[in-house]
Amino acid sequence: MVIHSPEQAARSDSGQLLADLRRVFASGRTRPLRWRLDQLRGIERLVEERESEIAAALAADLGRSAVEAWLGDVASTKAEAAFARKHLKKWIRRRRASLPVSQLPGRAWVQYDPLGVVLVIGPWNYPVYLSLAPLVAAVAAGNCAVIKPSELASATSALLARLLPHYVDPDAVRVVEGDAATTQDLLAQGFDHALFTGGTEIGKKIMAAAAPTLTPVTLELGGKSPVIVAADADIDVTARRIAWVKLLNSGQTCIAPDYVLADHAIADQLVDKIVANLRGFRSAENDPSVRIVNQRQFDRLVALISATDGKVVAGGGSDSSTLRIEPTVIVNSSPHDPVMANEIFGPILPVLSVESLDQAVEFVNARPKPLALYVFTSSAQRGRDLVDRVPSGGAVINQIAMHCLVPQLPFGGVGASGMGAYHGRWGFEALSHRRAVLSKPTKPDPRLVYPPYTDRALKIMRRLF
Ligand code: NAD
Repeated sequence: MVIHSPEQAARSDSGQLLADLRRVFASGRTRPLRWRLDQLRGIERLVEERESEIAAALAADLGRSAVEAWLGDVASTKAEAAFARKHLKKWIRRRRASLPVSQLPGRAWVQYDPLGVVLVIGPWNYPVYLSLAPLVAAVAAGNCAVIKPSELASATSALLARLLPHYVDPDAVRVVEGDAATTQDLLAQGFDHALFTGGTEIGKKIMAAAAPTLTPVTLELGGKSPVIVAADADIDVTARRIAWVKLLNSGQTCIAPDYVLADHAIADQLVDKIVANLRGFRSAENDPSVRIVNQRQFDRLVALISATDGKVVAGGGSDSSTLRIEPTVIVNSSPHDPVMANEIFGPILPVLSVESLDQAVEFVNARPKPLALYVFTSSAQRGRDLVDRVPSGGAVINQIAMHCLVPQLPFGGVGASGMGAYHGRWGFEALSHRRAVLSKPTKPDPRLVYPPYTDRALKIMRRLF
């Protein structure tokens, strides 16, 4: 009898899982349009029919309200699946390509082939949306998939493992629950693609773990997404929109506004209005503070508040027993303040005053490229100029974060904020192989291209190729 350690057993489990999925993929069952549409409809039905269970799991994991569960996880997932379902027939069509004279006669096209088995590694912050939106792309492209939800949102992870088999083909889509070791073990098996959503540092580990098997990766990472506010911005609307998205999920949103660079002419006024909005939005709650995912993140955020060299003008309080932190606004932080070092990912908003928009551009460009750039100005030209001058994964003028909910736009980072993009057609393409196909008739078959080459043949070939 061979006795396996639990680790060996887990390894052989994931090896077996992958072998099963490869067999299903090889059978061709995931290729037809009908199968793909059924899976997309299944994902829509799952979030429609199970909204209350999803909200309960998110409340247990993150203390999230039912409204935010609907907006952040249910409506967003449903929109992504519905959009893909509506457009898939068009996306999967082969695209004809014209031929150079040297290759005539013949036909050429690009066809979108499924890759095979795709691994989706999800984060905890929007654990339904960020597991299922990549799944939308995977099944739209005709792939089998393994979903590894975050262990830090354990109720949601368990719910997905329980529900998904009832809504999508259970032989082609599997959920594996577990932590970093499980993810590493899965990656070691080698997939046809891995789509990871999470922090930049873990992203590097994912890429390293994918390298030995040459598993291609899409990395949806984070970063410090800045808001640049020009003196001519509509300050009321700017303050409201910044405060709203900063509060969503307690600031634990990859495209939350991380910090604000405000023109000095309007900085004080902007801070007052952001603070007023944060208070107004929280006034209906008994407790103005918001819940953080776990003790480690809570401690990290509280340390940022106590270490700041800026002035705390709102909030600053916290309660370790409930992991709650008051929405906190900090002004006059120095660029070396720890709160300006890494992605905050919590309800803390530093607002820095700048002398000019040029200074704001320099400030952002001296740091790793952010996932999102937000610009507030009443001049359309100035908005476009700032977008052109500051590289980022995506950009929004006069609003925050909403580009993520436009499936017609690719969503992804650049540089340290990520690699590759998905959503809508872009997700379908990311998880398909764009395959070049050239089809030639056997006649004519001119001898001149075959050796031995005569001078005359070479002359003609030089003209043709
Ligand atoms: P994380 O990087 O800690 O973990 C994400 C996933 O990776 C989890 O499933 C986890 O089990 C796995 N993992 C963790 N350590 C691993 C390791 N050593 N090897 C293999 N797998 C490992 O991310 P998080 O804390 O869940 O999410 C927060 C981060 O994600 C933030 O930085 C945020 O900006 C980013 N984020 C990005 C997007 C986006 O779309 N770009 C969306 C949401 C969150």
